[in-house]
Amino acid sequence: MKTNILIVIFSVFFHASCEKSIIFPGDFEPGIALTFDDFWLNINPLMEKYQAKATFFLTDPLSISQETAEQLRYFQSIGGEVGSHTMHHYDIEDYVDQFGMNAYIQREVIPSIRLLDSMGLDVSSFAYPYGSIGKNSKRALLKYFRKIRGVAGDVENSEETLVEKLGNFYIQGSFIDQVKKMRLSTIVEALKKAKRKRAVLVLVGHLGYPDPKADWNTSIELVDSIMQYAHENGYKFYRVKDL
Ligand SMILES: [Zn+2]
Repeated sequence: MKTNILIVIFSVFFHASCEKSIIFPGDFEPGIALTFDDFWLNINPLMEKYQAKATFFLTDPLSISQETAEQLRYFQSIGGEVGSHTMHHYDIEDYVDQFGMNAYIQREVIPSIRLLDSMGLDVSSFAYPYGSIGKNSKRALLKYFRKIRGVAGDVENSEETLVEKLGNFYIQGSFIDQVKKMRLSTIVEALKKAKRKRAVLVLVGHLGYPDPKADWNTSIELVDSIMQYAHENGYKFYRVKDL
């Protein structure tokens, strides 16, 4: 019995020290976290082609068809993550000002987790609609999620979107939508910076917009070329929950 207790104590300490050691920046394998908000577009073929990973933050889960749910389960099985992006995509700041944080959690957050969960999707991350973070919302949200993703500046000049330490509960990404007129070369430069810093570049796009040419949609060709470059140049793909 005593030995068992000692083993437990030892493993707890050993585990704790391992956990601690992974937060040093030097231990981070440089890579990329591709995240997409709002809608789903079946990128499973691209994921398989480049052994890539990505995270989709889906809003309005009631509108997800059975066929889409099937694709999402497959996406999850090959390394994709599905996160919550609320029920109705309200701006959290406006919503909370009007109805309070508790209402936001009860009406916008919990039903979204439950619905995605009922489709067999393992939800542990959240992304703020419009990147609006509201006031003091992170603590309330972290009762339901392990990770929260926000948005920061442009790819070319945003240090905030390079995650240098594992274990941050809040991370930010830069937009790569068409409105940004993003070129692969800009992303390649940011990836090289990530490699020098042993960091992870976090990007935010939208796929599956009803109008693929819309400003706030990302071209699938760009996603294909980012994944190809990352794959061929030894960058690791991360999901939000991995960071
Ligand atoms: Zn959104």
